[in-house]
Amino acid sequence: MSWKEHLRPAVFDLSLYSPFDYATAPRELVRLDANEAAYPLEADELAAFQRELGKVAFHRYPEVSARPLREALARRWGVRPEQLLLGNGSDEIISILLTAFGGGRDGRAARVLYPAPTFGEYEAIALAHGAVPLPVPLDARFQLDEAALLEAIRRERPALAFYASPNNPTGNRFDAGAMERLARAMEGVAVVDEAYGDFGGATQLGRVGEVPGLFVMRTLSKIGLAALRLGALVGPADAIAELHKVRLPYNVNSVSIALACAALDEPAALDARIRRVAERRRELEAGLRALPALTVFPSDSNFVLVRVADAPAVFRALLARGVLVRNLSRPGPLHDCLRITAGTSEENEACLRALRAVLA
Ligand code: PMP
Repeated sequence: MSWKEHLRPAVFDLSLYSPFDYATAPRELVRLDANEAAYPLEADELAAFQRELGKVAFHRYPEVSARPLREALARRWGVRPEQLLLGNGSDEIISILLTAFGGGRDGRAARVLYPAPTFGEYEAIALAHGAVPLPVPLDARFQLDEAALLEAIRRERPALAFYASPNNPTGNRFDAGAMERLARAMEGVAVVDEAYGDFGGATQLGRVGEVPGLFVMRTLSKIGLAALRLGALVGPADAIAELHKVRLPYNVNSVSIALACAALDEPAALDARIRRVAERRRELEAGLRALPALTVFPSDSNFVLVRVADAPAVFRALLARGVLVRNLSRPGPLHDCLRITAGTSEENEACLRALRAVLA
């Protein structure tokens, strides 16, 4: 007997989440690979953080349900604090959902539905919990195949469904009516993952409570606060109360609570950053469209997906010129695709310059 026999079989087959290791880069890189906000915080935001840090009771546990932050986010999103669950990034929220809903029924493992290609953690976290991932291909324009999703819902009766809208890595938003119809067709929980919702101008937040089983997930990671690791789930208060029972106590730390509250208390800088990032994405998209060698997919997020002949070689050539993007190229719908996060104007220009040189 060894510990290996006690490991869930699915764990052996998982691979480690391993983003690019910046420490190994021979030179400073233009980092357009991780869908972060292009801009660091403003001086007045940092000054407010310093003040709040001075007030943190480091010898005490955090406020157990992060109530002050739930109140601040509830005000921003026009919901009630009881409708909010917070996590150490939305990654943790996905994990909490699997803990609560991924147990399976009648001796059958739980099914987790999502359109594909999409954010890889839905699959990875489902597998880690012993659930069965149920990817349903997006259509040729990377939109929802509503008929195929409905058929999968009827056939497999999934406990959970995830619709990232705008979707990562394709960048586009899904049809709100379709997501609502799909949510209504489910017995289980349909999560609209709005990680990039701040840039796309559309949200399903107003539909929570109206559409049974509809939840909206959000994150502060894409709007300048990735280091705080804060994600949120908005749902019906009775379901959120159940989820609070299975999240680990103190899953959100005091520093993140205090600093996020400070950022939300004076939201002008936060909102200005969101507008600037959206503007930079529009600029990047326009610059990429001017390059005839690229197919540019429409984006409602803070990044742009492109297709180019021999994408892995283009990725390496860009890296050699100091520009890091995400190489997503693999057989299937993402063949020869690269994902490029919007940078500052200078970073976007550096990326476009490098692309022009590589593709010449
Ligand atoms: N959902 C989507 C669609 C994402 O792209 C990401 C981050 N790449 C996340 C969730 C996770 O965000 P967080 O930093 O809040 O864990």
